Amino acid sequence: MATINDNYLKLPGSYLFAEIARRVAAFKEANPEADIIRLGIGDVTQPLPPACIEAMHKAVDELANADTFRGYGPEQGYSFLTDAIIEHNYKARGIDIASDEIFISDGSKSDCGNIQEIFGTDNHVAITDPVYPVYLDTNVMAGRTGTLQEDGHFEGVTYLPCDASNDFAPALPKERVDMIYLCCPNNPTGTTLSRAELKKWVDYAHENESVILFDAAYVYEIEGAKDVAIEFRSFSKTAGFTGTRCGYTIIPKTVKGRAADGSLVEFNKLWNRRHTTKFNGTAYIVQRGAAAIYTEEGQKQVKETIAYYMENARIIREGLQAAGIKAYGGVNAPYIWLKTPDNMPSWDFFDKLLTEVHIVGTPGAGFGPCGEGYFRLTAFGNRENTVRAVERIKNQLHI
Ligand SMILES: *Cc1c(COP(=O)(O)O)cnc(C)c1O
Repeated sequence: MATINDNYLKLPGSYLFAEIARRVAAFKEANPEADIIRLGIGDVTQPLPPACIEAMHKAVDELANADTFRGYGPEQGYSFLTDAIIEHNYKARGIDIASDEIFISDGSKSDCGNIQEIFGTDNHVAITDPVYPVYLDTNVMAGRTGTLQEDGHFEGVTYLPCDASNDFAPALPKERVDMIYLCCPNNPTGTTLSRAELKKWVDYAHENESVILFDAAYVYEIEGAKDVAIEFRSFSKTAGFTGTRCGYTIIPKTVKGRAADGSLVEFNKLWNRRHTTKFNGTAYIVQRGAAAIYTEEGQKQVKETIAYYMENARIIREGLQAAGIKAYGGVNAPYIWLKTPDNMPSWDFFDKLLTEVHIVGTPGAGFGPCGEGYFRLTAFGNRENTVRAVERIKNQLHI
């Protein structure tokens, strides 16, 4: 009989969002009148920028005509998009990225999850705790970990605790690690790492011949980062592409790993091989939409939407503080990470928020053992609901 990949059996069920749904459904059934506001979602709610819509409509029309029709495109992405990304996100900041160091994809979840395939299975992985679950789960699937322990940690993984005591900035590991996942601005904590903190990790990676897998922002501005970091970027949260699907990965040719024979090999080469073998490119229409983000109107529209979410974040953050709840993040990220009152377990706080003020959030414990005693609210809701939710927390929650 065919055998299975037993590593999958090491993973607990995807308990977090299923359990949230179960508790909300039960509450709704008992309280059909309750007006529930959801601030737990990690999905955007505002429509795509009009510039993207216009570009995508135009692309659809091109596909309708034999003269302008496009079939398979380059697996790595069309140059109209890669050039725009390099120009706006890198060159404008004085960073030199070649067109063959960028890979367009259907979003960064796939890339963050698949990247580990080009690393040896004997590599030692470090992740922050709490963490976006994709980094850990994909390494479990690949057999780079042992089993789940009583304390909620997988054997063989280095966890980097992040909580209020270290300002959510992970300390360097005591042992040597090979692959380091950093997420900045952070999901779920909504916090960012300073330039000095990032430099510390870049220096560590240089000294230990490790690779940083950096989910999000501007790490290549840190001196030396280009030799040790792979960067994942997404149009999902910045331009509302969660359903449209587009992201990209930057793998500088200077980032290398050791082969079994001791020689150094560019990760870029391996990823190119993988990407062209397993992926057939992001839809032309979608790439046209993404490229429109870099037009003048596109830039203006994206800024407006981000400002809308960041204003929601401010309302939540300041409302929580006014209610006497300690809140973190929400300044450079759409996530607010609050400390539960009296160190209440995060699932108890979930129930309290749901039953007393009919608000749904996400228990911090769902993102890792260090998330216990914390709770995530997101700024992706609409303004009206955000304001109403904060008023309820301020006026009706008993803490
Ligand atoms: C939303 C999110 C992603 C996934 O983005 P997609 O491009 O939609 O796949 C990756 N990493 C973090 C930290 C996220 O919050």
